[in-house]
Amino acid sequence: MIKLKNKTALVTGGSRGIGKAIALELAAQGADVAILYHGNEAAAMETCGQLEQMAVKAKAYRCDVASFEAAKDTVKEILGCFGKIDILVNNAGITKDGLLLSMSEASFDQVINANLKGAFNMIRHIYSPMMKQRSGRIINITSVAGIMGNAGQANYASAKAGMIGLTKTVARELAGRNVTCNAVAPGFIESDMTAKLPDKVKEGALASIPLKRMGQPAEIAKAVAFLASEDASYITGAVIQIDGGLCM
Ligand code: NAP
Repeated sequence: MIKLKNKTALVTGGSRGIGKAIALELAAQGADVAILYHGNEAAAMETCGQLEQMAVKAKAYRCDVASFEAAKDTVKEILGCFGKIDILVNNAGITKDGLLLSMSEASFDQVINANLKGAFNMIRHIYSPMMKQRSGRIINITSVAGIMGNAGQANYASAKAGMIGLTKTVARELAGRNVTCNAVAPGFIESDMTAKLPDKVKEGALASIPLKRMGQPAEIAKAVAFLASEDASYITGAVIQIDGGLCM
């Protein structure tokens, strides 16, 4: 269904995994899409090519979202190229797992910076343009780890919990300008991020998921596209869990 015609979306980490599925779904619904990636240029170019084949405008930008200045420059570039940004999806994220007992300061900082500060940076630079255009959709990809905690993920769970606080604050600040801000909290989803988990961890996770399977990136993308559409006009400050029943 074409629900996002004439909309421009920016998807961070849109080159691979969940972000790629989100970019493709938004394009399938008619949106022009700018994707941000960090290091894997080949993946970004491949995704960009797939988006262009869907008859929408698409462009990939290399940008470390953890950098305030890089985020600022990239948002400016995208506004220059696309004219506006209607939908921001903060999806870029990394993990650096380990028990807190031995977690390095660098590992804590890197995960907070990529996940939480990255989302702050992007919102900070898009806040004013969205406020002025008196419409917008911000969707933050958090995690059930930010709701229930997860042994071995003190850095990641802290970042994802922080994103929930950020989501609710932005929802309150921008509601008067017709800008909504929501979070989507995936459980275990098949992607490069979960492929690197040890089999034992995956088996343990599967055993605690009522639906008894991992989720697919496209199952996250459908919810994001809904939140980005007019159909979700009265939803703001919400955290939507998509986890096969893992966290309830
Ligand atoms: P993924 O396959 O590892 O992909 C991560 C994406 O983020 C890539 O496009 C990567 O770009 C980009 N990225 C990473 N650091 C970045 C940075 N500093 N600046 C800009 N882009 C950056 O991960 P995924 O599984 O799709 O996860 C996507 C999001 O969902 C993450 O926020 C993750 O925390 C969240 N999530 C995932 C799961 C899951 O089970 N997979 C569960 C809950 C939440 P490059 O390829 O260029 O490095």
